[in-house]
Amino acid sequence: MNKPKMKSFTEPKTVTDYPLGATCPSDHITSINAGWRTYRPVIDQEKCVLCMRCFLVCPDGVIDKSSDRLEIDYDFCKGCGVCAYECKPKAIKMVKEAEFNG
Ligand code: SF4
Ligand code: SF4
Repeated sequence: MNKPKMKSFTEPKTVTDYPLGATCPSDHITSINAGWRTYRPVIDQEKCVLCMRCFLVCPDGVIDKSSDRLEIDYDFCKGCGVCAYECKPKAIKMVKEAEFNG
């Protein structure tokens, strides 16, 4: 298992100063989701206004903003639903894993 890398903290000044979610080490996630997630967040890209609120509140830093649309790294997402709760346009829906069909 890879050990997390420690980084010194630098105060972010703009949203682009924040890390790129799962595309860089989050420092505290060391293994992928083992299949225990009950719900998965699914982003409706048509409703998403790219406000980055979900990106900022995700406790595990698994929302990737490195392209022109947000992507969730389901290998590490724990399905807590914080992103969906905080999304004002209701662009994120929590879907039961058993009912998710891609
Ligand atoms: S909080 Fe909702 S609208 Fe804002 S970036 Fe995330 S999915 Fe898009
Ligand atoms: S469900 Fe939780 S861990 Fe998964 S993307 Fe949303 S806030 Fe992050």
